[in-house]
Amino acid sequence: MSLPEPKSEPALQPMPEDWQRALAVVAHPDDLEYGCAAAIAAWTDAGKEVTYVLATRGEAGIDTLAPDKCGPLREQEQRASAAVVGVDTVEFLDHKDGVIEYGVALRRDIAAAIRRHRPELVITLNHRDTWGGVYWNTPDHVAVGRATLDAAADAGNRWIFPELTEEGLEPWNGVKWVAVAGSAQPTHAADATAGLERAVRSLLEHRTYIEVLTDEDPETYCRTFLTGNVQAAAERFGGKPAVPFEVFNR
Ligand SMILES: [Zn+2]
Repeated sequence: MSLPEPKSEPALQPMPEDWQRALAVVAHPDDLEYGCAAAIAAWTDAGKEVTYVLATRGEAGIDTLAPDKCGPLREQEQRASAAVVGVDTVEFLDHKDGVIEYGVALRRDIAAAIRRHRPELVITLNHRDTWGGVYWNTPDHVAVGRATLDAAADAGNRWIFPELTEEGLEPWNGVKWVAVAGSAQPTHAADATAGLERAVRSLLEHRTYIEVLTDEDPETYCRTFLTGNVQAAAERFGGKPAVPFEVFNR
């Protein structure tokens, strides 16, 4: 008797490239560096503009550091880490780390950011309850991911947040795709070859956080983690190391 062959997963499609501006919206400093910085490096190399918006400053992320000390430090690390992959603009929405509430206020803040930056591509992080059914996700990631998927539409509707129009933020209905990083159901991928080395350095900029997280040498830790991730996606992307995304078309 032989076991049935495992069903092979369908190939990942290349990410859309016919866009100029992307906005990445996540909950915490390091959320982008743990997954998609290699893709972002390649996009900024190609002359595309990528902007980061973080719901919090990650001030509750380090047990040994009180939030009033931790927030400014992690903000600084996030700005340095964005610069490594060619991202100059990093904004913080100042929701409270660990207790971000999904709701109208969060949707409004993200819709305002989308109207300010007018992206064609919006990027966010896994909005589902779990990481592939294995690990429970954090409520902050779920809230920000869901609110970002919602806000891509909210930003284009003049009547949902009319106060934004009064502030001079005209509706922007130009978001064509929302790409979710860290999804267990990816549909697309970006080649990570050119950006991988910068992705490692970008994650390494979160040094304070990483030094508390692991006893391993920080660089070895970053390289092992990111290389493992992009290699895992390679088998569905023609053997090329890749950053996978679940893409929702609009
Ligand atoms: Zn996070």
